[in-house]
Amino acid sequence: MRLDLSPEHAALRDALREFSQSVVKPAAGSVDREHRWPVEAIEGARALDLMGILVPEEYGGAGLDHLAFTICIEELAAACASTAVIVDVHNSVASEPIVLFGSEEQKRAWLPRLASGEVLGAFALTEPSSGSDAASLKTTAKRFGQEFVLSGTKVFITNAGQAGLYVVFARTGADDRAAGISAFLVPADAQGLKVGQLFKKMGLNGSPTAELVLEEVKVPAAALLNAEGKGFTVAMRALDSGRIGISGQALGIAEAAFSEALAYTREREQFGQPVAAFQGVGFMLADMATRIAAARQMAYHAASLCSAGKPFTLEASMAKLFSTDTAMDVAIDAVQLAGGYGYMNDYPFERHFRDAKALQIYEGSNQVQRVVIARELLS
Ligand SMILES: Cc1cc2nc3c(=O)[nH]c(=O)nc-3n(C[C@H](O)[C@H](O)[C@H](O)COP(=O)(O)OP(=O)(O)OC[C@H]3O[C@@H](n4cnc5c(N)ncnc54)[C@H](O)[C@@H]3O)c2cc1C
Repeated sequence: MRLDLSPEHAALRDALREFSQSVVKPAAGSVDREHRWPVEAIEGARALDLMGILVPEEYGGAGLDHLAFTICIEELAAACASTAVIVDVHNSVASEPIVLFGSEEQKRAWLPRLASGEVLGAFALTEPSSGSDAASLKTTAKRFGQEFVLSGTKVFITNAGQAGLYVVFARTGADDRAAGISAFLVPADAQGLKVGQLFKKMGLNGSPTAELVLEEVKVPAAALLNAEGKGFTVAMRALDSGRIGISGQALGIAEAAFSEALAYTREREQFGQPVAAFQGVGFMLADMATRIAAARQMAYHAASLCSAGKPFTLEASMAKLFSTDTAMDVAIDAVQLAGGYGYMNDYPFERHFRDAKALQIYEGSNQVQRVVIARELLS
């Protein structure tokens, strides 16, 4: 389905599609099978200025809006979902908080390096005992004069091991909920910061997800992002627009699974005709395409509200919920439509299926999106 994009957004889509289909997609199968870092895709993304999409030009970024960002992530995800999540996390929840909450000194120190791709960013909120209830996190940051000392363990951290900068959330205050949490910019080479176990996952195998262990990591007070005790605001704002990026990932996976199922069912013949000609198959294709079109409208709408500086929490959560459920359902149906071949790893269908599942869980599970949506509706 064609959407009425501005000439600039349409040109960006064309350029990203060309790059993603010619450079990123051919490596996606081996990236998944070998659980390897998608080196060709990330090098290409650096060269194309995709590591600073939301960073203002004065700090070396592309200075593009959230619709452009969504389009970039969507096109990458249609080729390789692992690449998309790496680039998404780096641009959104790792870099954007510095754009929004960073001091001038922090912006000058980090944004040009993040935008060029010299430094990769990661976002470290989740802990072994705090996921959906992020306000109950236990990592501590104790102040000693002009220094903080961070101790604790984070889990499921995307880009851990590859990142040069971690946005880390830790408890500085006596309040045991959100008001006691602060955010810190912690360089990967800080003494005491270690990457722990690398998790073995169901999908997104090219994207490293690891434990981050902080053993008395000393950072200067200048590493505090936003005021002390205001870290939860940073996390929630990062996740609000981060959910638009996840919607982009979902659109890409769904579009890839759908278009491959469409091509397969046109080609595959049973009972003397292409299986796509059976009404039972055609109706499934119709539902898949309809849901993707609706998800795209929702994601682009949330992105446009965000770029316009309007409230977008409700719309971003709705888009994340609907688009990631759509990606999962479309991926399941695509496996079904390819029959036994859909189940075999010679075809990409089962990869889309495994990759799609994570999207319903991270950056706020889909139950948590419903909590957010209901709260916004009732507020
Ligand atoms: C591949 C991957 C990458 C990730 N990357 C990062 C990262 O880079 N940085 C980071 O900080 N985290 C990351 N995460 C963590 C992710 O954000 C959490 O897994 C997610 O927030 C859910 O937390 P949890 O796993 O602790 O589940 P839990 O919070 O324990 O939830 C368990 C179940 O209970 C449900 N549930 C919880 N609360 C409610 C409620 N109030 N109402 C209804 N149902 C509820 C959940 O939806 C879920 O079904 C990643 C996770 C994955 C899988």
